[in-house]
Amino acid sequence: MRRNYQNIPRYVPHAASGYALNQNESQYPLPERLERAIRDVSLEALSRYPVEELLALKASYADYAGVEPTQLMVGSGSDELLAILSQAILDTEDRVVAPAPDFSMYGIYTQIARGHFTQPDELGLRYETLIEVIRTTDPKLVLISNPNNPTGKMWTLDELSDIATRVPYLVVDEAYIDFTMKDSFVSRLSEYPNVIILRTLSKAFGLANLRIGFMIASEEIIEQIDRFRSPFNVSGLSAAVANVVLRDETYIQESIQFHTAQREKLTELLRPIGEILPSRANFIYVKTDDSEGWASRFLDKGVHVRAFPDGLRVSAGTDEAYALIQQTIEEVNSVEN
Ligand code: PMP
Repeated sequence: MRRNYQNIPRYVPHAASGYALNQNESQYPLPERLERAIRDVSLEALSRYPVEELLALKASYADYAGVEPTQLMVGSGSDELLAILSQAILDTEDRVVAPAPDFSMYGIYTQIARGHFTQPDELGLRYETLIEVIRTTDPKLVLISNPNNPTGKMWTLDELSDIATRVPYLVVDEAYIDFTMKDSFVSRLSEYPNVIILRTLSKAFGLANLRIGFMIASEEIIEQIDRFRSPFNVSGLSAAVANVVLRDETYIQESIQFHTAQREKLTELLRPIGEILPSRANFIYVKTDDSEGWASRFLDKGVHVRAFPDGLRVSAGTDEAYALIQQTIEEVNSVEN
């Protein structure tokens, strides 16, 4: 094994039973018309390595994102693309900075690529704090999710543009951008060719099981990073199913509307627990010193949420799950009163 491999934590999937409001997955069911269309996906090419399916998927997604197919790389989830780009960009001991808090895998991919990961000590995503850490650390790569996971906060395009001028490479991870659709960095990509945007079909598109993510960047960067990708890294069946869903424009609109409405309901529901941070994603962050306590009380009712040191992240879910959340909060309040 590599020296110090024990410092790299294993990713252990969470239990799938009960109401999973802990992974920001879509809770909007695929309409029957799409289920039928997916059943019609041809299995003729199962014995062949996937090529055509990926070309078709790139063409559809380029259309959706408003970029050229040559500006795309497809990965087995945006997770794989984070791993590939870290390997491609970082030399041993190169420094990487991300805001605090942000997606926990950023630090892990940096370690795997033998880089050095730094986050601000101060939580709260203050722009000035992030700039100060970038100034003192001088990283080769900055990784930022926008909207932010776990808070749902948006960094402004001006803030991101400013960061892009300070570092060799900036990744803007737009896993949750479909829920807001405004303010994608795609609109500024031609001005800032050192920026790499990540997208996924795991959230608003409701296709986490397919494992499909996209990298959007200049043709030149795609050409460079593509050398670090394994051959045929994405299943053609996944690509073909994704392509069916991508062609249904109504579905994505319905999914966004559902999640936005459910997020607003959730905001009201969680208010008694603590301060709610304004979110533009499909989850809510509520501040509380008792995050572990709340998480375990919700779990007693079968609802999984994610505890962080200073709060809880709860994905927008169904009314059924919300009834259990409400029950839990009422029980705690009646004991306290
Ligand atoms: N980026 C962010 C900010 C995420 O929250 C997630 C998943 N939770 C991912 C990337 C990875 O998503 P996937 O690999 O399913 O595309």
